[in-house]
Amino acid sequence: MPFKTHNEGGIWTGGGTEVPNCNPVEIAAIREAFRYCHDVIIPRIRAVRGLEDLANRISQMTEPIILLDCRGSVCDANTAARINARGGREITLCSKALPPAPQQSTDVTLFHQLILACNGTEFDAWALENFFYHGHGTVAPDSNPQIIQNNVFIESTTPVAGDKNKRISEFLFWRANEGKVFVKHQMGGTWNAPPVYTEGQQLNIDGMYIEHGYYYILL
Ligand SMILES: [Zn+2]
Repeated sequence: MPFKTHNEGGIWTGGGTEVPNCNPVEIAAIREAFRYCHDVIIPRIRAVRGLEDLANRISQMTEPIILLDCRGSVCDANTAARINARGGREITLCSKALPPAPQQSTDVTLFHQLILACNGTEFDAWALENFFYHGHGTVAPDSNPQIIQNNVFIESTTPVAGDKNKRISEFLFWRANEGKVFVKHQMGGTWNAPPVYTEGQQLNIDGMYIEHGYYYILL
């Protein structure tokens, strides 16, 4: 894969050259974002008890297995990036996350998409970037009106034992009414008994933002 191309200079019978849609400056920024994630962030993820599985999954997400594109039809003024599907392998970065935007914007946006590639939900992506990229480009979810309007945090979590205030995502446990986010621990789970989910380590997320998003939804 790794960078999507288009043909320049060819005619209908062929010829021309395959040119990446991302220009060299953009490719350099994306490669730096991979490097930062793998060298700096993954060791921090691995150090959190209960996130080893995430660390292993995101370690697999390297340039050769992701199809990377720049701008394109999925982008609009509110969109920093898109992945083709949860668990998908095609990531498009939009202008907000590409030079001349700061490198930190590329870093955090790529990370957000890689969490989705690891089968994380939007809730995981927002909360984990808020924790691991604090002070490194992360923005509050309520800076994006679509997150609030589309009930994204509620839609991307499920209630634990029918309690709408205790919710789980792929990796996290959210006490929604308190705005607190924890690592999700799962115990048991057999053919005749569902698993039990408990709170692991609390992640010191900018809880106000998560809570804020939640109350917007209730109002
Ligand atoms: Zn997202």
